[in-house]
Amino acid sequence: MNNCLLCHSSFRREINYEKLFLFVKYKERYTCSECLKKFVKKKGKICSGCNKEIDTKGLCNDCLQWKRKYAGNLLDNRSLYQYNDTFHDVMVQYKRYGDYILCHVLAELIDQLPAADYYVPVPSSPSHLEKRGFDTIYAIYQKLVPLTKLLVKSDTEKAQGEKNREERLLTKQTFSAIDNKNISGKILLLDDIYTTGRTLYHARDALLEVYPNCKINSFTISR
Ligand SMILES: [Zn+2]
Ligand SMILES: [Zn+2]
Repeated sequence: MNNCLLCHSSFRREINYEKLFLFVKYKERYTCSECLKKFVKKKGKICSGCNKEIDTKGLCNDCLQWKRKYAGNLLDNRSLYQYNDTFHDVMVQYKRYGDYILCHVLAELIDQLPAADYYVPVPSSPSHLEKRGFDTIYAIYQKLVPLTKLLVKSDTEKAQGEKNREERLLTKQTFSAIDNKNISGKILLLDDIYTTGRTLYHARDALLEVYPNCKINSFTISR
């Protein structure tokens, strides 16, 4: 028996065969089925750019803006879950209070990842790293795929999570890419949440400066 990391009830851990095939290795379970049900996968129509749930076919308003800004070169973002209250609460506990153990729950939610040659996590800033003692995105994805650290983030006055929408969109570039001659092919950027897309587009900009010939897409657990 295991204890659920969210509700603390004990549950029987059965092997999830779907995950077994996708990741080949056995995945430990940390969350009971009742808690897992509270995370809702996207359904119905989703934006073809970022996977936000929308009423019509095509692109959401954010993606239409990015398309204009980047002359049609839209970031192809895959995202699995709705950003609902349960997801929000877990993220607050994980990021604001630095509850490391929740990286297991978040990793467990990811039952598929697009194929890529390099999986590049969006890094924490030095001050966040010091405050929490761990890198939030690295901690989640290191359980799933081999990660390549290609981005460095410098400190900002305010964290993305403390900003409103307007402030987020006006955020300045804080990423720079590490030069590694061996990198070519497909890069998948990994983050937790896609909010406005600002962070991921900045991450892509930084990578493209050093790796102009790479194909760069992104993945977030929620949008
Ligand atoms: Zn539970
Ligand atoms: Zn979109």
